[in-house]
Amino acid sequence: NTETPHYIIDEEIVRKIYKKRKDTSHKGNYGKTCIVAGCFGKIGAAVLATKSALFSGSGLTYILAPKCGYEILQTTCPEAMYLYGGEDFIKNFTVENDFTYGIGPGLGTDYETEEKLMHFLKNYNEPLVLDADALNLISKNSENLNLIPKNSIITPHPKEFSRLFGESKDSFERLELAKSKAKELGIYIVLKGHHTQIITPEGNVFYNITGNSGLAKGGSGDVLLGIITSFLAQGYSPENAAIFGVWLHGKAADFTAEKHSKEAMLASDVIQHIGEVFKYLQ
Ligand code: AMP
Ligand code: MG
Repeated sequence: NTETPHYIIDEEIVRKIYKKRKDTSHKGNYGKTCIVAGCFGKIGAAVLATKSALFSGSGLTYILAPKCGYEILQTTCPEAMYLYGGEDFIKNFTVENDFTYGIGPGLGTDYETEEKLMHFLKNYNEPLVLDADALNLISKNSENLNLIPKNSIITPHPKEFSRLFGESKDSFERLELAKSKAKELGIYIVLKGHHTQIITPEGNVFYNITGNSGLAKGGSGDVLLGIITSFLAQGYSPENAAIFGVWLHGKAADFTAEKHSKEAMLASDVIQHIGEVFKYLQ
C-alpha cells in the first residue's frame, strides 16, 4: 500500500544519526567489518569495498577473498587483514559471530560459491549486507530469499532487483513490490538509482537526494557496500546504517564531482572524499 510514511533524507536526519568518535575509544569499539568479495578478474571490486569500509571508520577490517587477490589486497589495503577464501573464487566462508559481513562485490557466480554462500546464510543469523553477485546467486532459487537473516540490508540496482523479485512495469510498481518484499522478508531494501530509495521492514520509504550521474560507472556500488557494512559493524542500527551510508556515499560523490567533473571522477576518487563528508558533519 502507498499509505506508509515517505521521508526525504535531509541533513537534519543525518546529523541525528551520526555518532562522533569518543576521545577515549579504541579499535574494539568500532566493530569488525568483514568484506567478502572478489574473484579472478574482479579483485578491484574487493579493493573498493574494503577501502570504503576503512575510510568510513571500521575498527577492524577483514577481507575474505580468493588467493589470486592476496598480494593486490595486502598492497592496496594494508590496514585490512586477509582471510583465505579459495584460489580463483570464493569457496570457503568463515563464520565468525562477531564479524559484520558485507558480501557480494565481484564475487562471480560459480556454483561452488553459490553452494557455500547459501550454507553460510543458513548458519549465520545476524544482520548483514548483500549486494551484486551475492544477490545474483540468491536469485537462482526463490527459496534462497528466506535464508537472508532478518534486518539485513540488500542493495540491488534495478536489474538485480528484478532478478530477485521479478519485473515491474515502472518505478512506482517496483517501489510497491519492494515494500511488500521488505515486509515479507523482514529486511531493508536499498533500491539504487538516481534517487535511491530505502525501504524498511515496516514499509517506510526514505528517499536520498545526494549523489550525481558521476556515480553511473562500474565500482560505485562496491563503495556503497563498504560504507554501509562498516556503519553496521560500528553499531549503527541497520536502518541508520543504510540511511547514513546512502547519504554519505552521494555526498562524497557530490564533493568529488565539484573537483574532478562527473565524467572524470572514479569510484576510487569518491572514497578519497569520504573524509570531507565527516569533516562537513563535525
Ligand atoms: P552499482 O550499479 O551497483 O554500481 O551502483 C551504482 C551506485 O551509484 C548506486 O549507489 C546508485 O545510486 C549510484 N548512481 C548511479 N547512477 C546515478 C545517478 N544518475 N544519480 C545518482 N546516483 C547514481
Ligand atoms: Mg553493483
